[in-house]
Amino acid sequence: MEFQKSHRLDNLKYDIRGPVYEKAQELESQGYKVINLNIGNPAPFGFDAPDEIVHDIIMNIRNAQGYSDSRGLFSARKAVMHYTQTQGIPQVEISDIFIGNGVSELILLAMQALLNTGDEILVPSPDYPLWTTSIALSGGKPVHYICDESADWNPDLDDLERKITPRTKGIVLINPNNPTGAVYDKEVVARIARIAEEHGLIIFSDEIYDKILYDGAVHYPIATMVEDTLCVTFGGLSKNYRAAGFRGGWMILSGAKHRAKSYIEGILLLASMRLCANVPTQYAIQTALGGYQSIKDLVLPAGRLHKQMNLVYDRLTSIPGISCVKPKGALYLFPKIDLNAFDFKDDGAFVFDLLSEHKVLVVAGTGFNYIHNDHFRIVFLPTADELNLAMDRIELFLESRRVP
Ligand code: PLP
Repeated sequence: MEFQKSHRLDNLKYDIRGPVYEKAQELESQGYKVINLNIGNPAPFGFDAPDEIVHDIIMNIRNAQGYSDSRGLFSARKAVMHYTQTQGIPQVEISDIFIGNGVSELILLAMQALLNTGDEILVPSPDYPLWTTSIALSGGKPVHYICDESADWNPDLDDLERKITPRTKGIVLINPNNPTGAVYDKEVVARIARIAEEHGLIIFSDEIYDKILYDGAVHYPIATMVEDTLCVTFGGLSKNYRAAGFRGGWMILSGAKHRAKSYIEGILLLASMRLCANVPTQYAIQTALGGYQSIKDLVLPAGRLHKQMNLVYDRLTSIPGISCVKPKGALYLFPKIDLNAFDFKDDGAFVFDLLSEHKVLVVAGTGFNYIHNDHFRIVFLPTADELNLAMDRIELFLESRRVP
């Protein structure tokens, strides 16, 4: 008898590590050197985590042998609580903070604790696809609202509002955004807060890139802009602190907690069932949040991240047929391909052929649940030399496929 995967997984996908990624691994096993521009994983590209974080984990490893509280270590949650205070998020108590094995675990947990079959959650298109899959896996229905490329990828709020139904329970915001690099305007964030308030929706705000901001961009935490709305804000060590492998993240409940007693009970139940987040990493959270914020040096105009973002942006946008909104935050560009200018049929064919012919791996825009099939996401973490090599290959590939 063949064992079949669960029907719950039937329509789920995660293309960042999907079939094209498998193909890249196959090519590598055949001896090809693939340039991997598909995953936002800073440390392997020389963006080391701050030393003090690594030091804390090493120093505390003996103290970290036992389980912690299911919500997380007191010191870690105290540090997150202090962070909310510096951000201006009101009335967060220590019991409102949950530490997880990365934001990923907490996203799934937050959805599983809330959703009944058919409950709807509004998710941006394009999105970070874990949101869509977590909602679907939890029995909910992800409903995508459009982010508008011509408005610097800010959400189209008319579209968002039109998609609210009696089954809608919440709105997901990813700000700064993966994959577009958008950092939402203050008025947009405030209007989303008003919409949630008017319709009694929960706000889920994924702010994992909140310190990765370029060219003076300002990040506005939506939890500072609501009055009587439940906000669930997510942050972690993976990006701001370049420690993705340590798997450390947090989730902060704020706002109308008094109307969410049962939901919070559900969150606590699921957090208890998985006992606790890995404890060595929890010891690093206080130092990460309270220590020297070296990410700020990397995003300055002279910083490596900023320079590499500009490099990829300049090279891509100099190719006729490729256009791109310049990122204001995060680690990605989300360029548009003019499909009339080249002889591949869509983003999937572009990504597959680029990998097969030139050994450069990027991710198709549709992998981020984008409604159009003419974008791709590219990571700018490798060294400038490697990025230039990748750009040479992309240029060569596009010229070879240009329609005369
Ligand atoms: N949210 C967004 C927007 C992300 O881009 C990522 C990872 O790329 C995550 C969450 C998951 O982060 P973590 O490593 O904390 O699980």
